[in-house]
Amino acid sequence: MALIVQKFGGTSVGDPERIKNVARRVARTKDGGDDVVVVVSAMGGETNRLISLAGQVSSDPDEREMDMLLSTGERVTIALLAMALQDMGYKARSYTGRQVGIITDSAHTKARIERITAERVLEALTEGIIPIVAGFQGIDEKSDVTTLGRGGSDTTAVALAVALKADLCDIYTDVDGVYTTDPNIVPSAKKIKKISYEEMLEMASLGAKVLQTRAVEFAMKHNVPVGVRSSFNENSGTLVTREEKDMEQVSVSGVTYDKNQARITIIGVPDKPGIAYKIFGTVANENIVIDMIIQNTGQGGLTDISFTVPGTDMDKAVKIVKEMIAGIGAKGVEVKDEVSKVSIIGVGMRSHSGVAAKMFGTLAKEGINIMMISTSEIKISCIIDSRYTELAVRALHDSFELGR
Ligand code: ASP
Ligand code: MG
Repeated sequence: MALIVQKFGGTSVGDPERIKNVARRVARTKDGGDDVVVVVSAMGGETNRLISLAGQVSSDPDEREMDMLLSTGERVTIALLAMALQDMGYKARSYTGRQVGIITDSAHTKARIERITAERVLEALTEGIIPIVAGFQGIDEKSDVTTLGRGGSDTTAVALAVALKADLCDIYTDVDGVYTTDPNIVPSAKKIKKISYEEMLEMASLGAKVLQTRAVEFAMKHNVPVGVRSSFNENSGTLVTREEKDMEQVSVSGVTYDKNQARITIIGVPDKPGIAYKIFGTVANENIVIDMIIQNTGQGGLTDISFTVPGTDMDKAVKIVKEMIAGIGAKGVEVKDEVSKVSIIGVGMRSHSGVAAKMFGTLAKEGINIMMISTSEIKISCIIDSRYTELAVRALHDSFELGR
C-alpha cells in the first residue's frame, strides 16, 4: 500500500461535472488499496476573477487583503470535492491551509512554506477518511492567511508529499505530460516518460508551463518523485525524478523557446574596471532579470556590451540604460525587440561532445543567424530573430531526432 498525493489544477475542477470526474478518479485510487491525499486549485479562471474584483475597488490592493480574497477560490473546490466523494459513499473531509498547519513566512502573495504539521491529515488517514486540502494557501506566525504565488498549488502538493513522506506526488493538469517540444509547433513531439528534476527546472523556466518552478525545486531538494498527468485521460504521463544513468543515453531531451525577449546593446563603453558592475547593478536594483550578457573584446579602449531582458521589462530597462550612458561615458544604446531564445536541454550533454556544434550547424543550414549564445552544463541557448522561432524549433527537434 502506497501513500499518494494527487493534485488537481483549475481546469480539472473547472465545473461540477469535472469535479465529479475528479472524485471518481480519487475513489479509484482509494479502491485500489492506496492511501490518497488530495490537493486542489480553485476552479479555472476563479483566481483571475478575484484579482479583477480587487482591481475594481482599489488601485493598489493591500497584499494581506489580497491573500484573504484569493484563498477563497480553493475553499470552494475543497468543499465541493468532499461533497462529491461523500455522495459516492466515500469518507472525505476538506481542510484549509490553516487546518493542515501549512506555516509560511509573511511575504503576502508570494509566501514560502516553512513547515507543515499535517496533524489533521494524518488523523484523517488513520480513520480511513480522504483528506482534501486547499492548495496555494497557508498561514503565517500571526495566523494571517498567505498565498504562495500563482500556480502555488503545485508547491502545496509537493510540500505535503514531503511532510507526509508520500511515495508519489501526481500533478493532474490539462496536458498529459512533458513533451520534447511544443506540440503546437512540432506535431511529432513526443511525450517524455522520465525526466530529471534539473531538466524539468530548465524546461519550466523556459516556458513549458506545466509545473510551478518552486514545486520542482522542492521535489528535487527532498527527492520526491512527481508525476505529470492529465485528468481527462488514462495516459501514463511523465515522471519527474532524480537523474538516472539511462537518462544520459540521449544527448538532448527537449527543445524550448521563449519569444518574449529583447536585446539591449550599449555601444562604445569604456573598457575599464567597475563598468559592468555599474550597469548591471543599476538594472538589478530595478528588479529586472537579466538573462544573457555578452561583452566584446575592446578596441581603442572601448567595447560593446549586449544583454537580454524579458520583453515586458524592455521599456523600463532602456530608460534606465539611457539615463546611465552619459555617466559611464558610453556612446549609445541600440535595442532589438522581437528576439527569441531557443534552447536545447539534456543531462546527456555532460557526456556527449559536439552537441553545441550540432546545434549551431542546424541553425546555419536554415540560414538563421545566431545573435547571442549561452551555455550551461545541461543547456545551450541561442538568441535569434523571432521570425525564425518555429523554424529553429522544428529544425532542432529534427536534427536531434527527438520525434523518434
Ligand atoms: N489558484 C491559484 C492560481 O490560479 C493557485 C493554483 O492554481 O495553483 O494561481
Ligand atoms: Mg497550475
